Amino acid sequence: MLAYTYISKGNFKLQEKPLPQIEDSRDAIVRVTLGSICTSDLHIKHGSVPRAVPGITVGHEMVGIVEQTGADVTTVKPGDRVTVNVETFCGECFFCQKGFVNNCTDPHGGWALGCRIDGGQAEYVRVPYADSGLNRIPDTVSDEQALFVGDVLATGFWAARISEITEDDTVLIIGAGPTGICTLLCVMLKNPKRIIVCEKSPERIQFVREHYPDVLITEPETCQKFVLEHSDHGGADVVLEVAGSDDSFHLAWECARPNAIVTVVALYDKPQLLPLPNMYGKNLTFKTGGVDGCDCAEILHLIEEGKIDTTPLLTHRFPLNEIEKAYHIFENKLDGVIKIAITKVHPVF
Ligand SMILES: [Zn+2]
Ligand SMILES: [Zn+2]
Repeated sequence: MLAYTYISKGNFKLQEKPLPQIEDSRDAIVRVTLGSICTSDLHIKHGSVPRAVPGITVGHEMVGIVEQTGADVTTVKPGDRVTVNVETFCGECFFCQKGFVNNCTDPHGGWALGCRIDGGQAEYVRVPYADSGLNRIPDTVSDEQALFVGDVLATGFWAARISEITEDDTVLIIGAGPTGICTLLCVMLKNPKRIIVCEKSPERIQFVREHYPDVLITEPETCQKFVLEHSDHGGADVVLEVAGSDDSFHLAWECARPNAIVTVVALYDKPQLLPLPNMYGKNLTFKTGGVDGCDCAEILHLIEEGKIDTTPLLTHRFPLNEIEKAYHIFENKLDGVIKIAITKVHPVF
């Protein structure tokens, strides 16, 4: 089968590989019907994910059809259409039992697919702990509608869930990239009084304006003033930092009102400064982390009910055999790209 492979820093290559096999009784083999490219794939390509293993197939956002299951898999069966979770988790350890599946103590717990074990920018993928790693897609939900459930949408859902948003709140979301928009969709489910999005890219500002007209928009330079003018208590009640740029962490706590919750979803390239003397008396609560991706069934249900729709994010489509072109566009942010769907191999005659 074809598999897009991490060769070395700066170098991914489409290669022929053998089909994956069941290695454990809790594994499933999934035929990938639709995949995507995530910024984390680029982090691997750029060498900023030291635990990524050269030779592995990349890709951790995908949906597909179960081909084969190990003897101990109980929740899915061959023929089921499923979402694949970015995180591998056993469901039994201390952290899994508490819902902190990102910290599953299994040797492959957390983000393993497409990083430490073969992922889904390929025709087939082996999914360990299939009972927790796969969720059945309702019949009325399409592959495109379900594509982001296991990764970026799970992240947005988790971020909104831990941010303790109420209907009286002014919520500031910094960054309107794919994860920022997924976060926005999930924050909207909480019905806060106001949502302000801070973004600098004109294309992304236009996207938010067009699709979410009730959302207020500001740019980084004017953000603090704008939030002051559009909030009731001297700043945002809740801030979600999803940008991860040089100044965005600073902006996040500066725009927060005293006693606010600041949720940091962003992944930074560099350490960030936490200037405690400057924020003394502001009494902020910071929440940080990587997604606990254990809400996929609930997210699929919300999509089925029409309450979440991520399909506007899908701006481009390429077959797996043309994935190099897709990466070129995604990596260089060309042509207004937000997310790209990788479809099955197109035969070349
Ligand atoms: Zn990702
Ligand atoms: Zn676990």
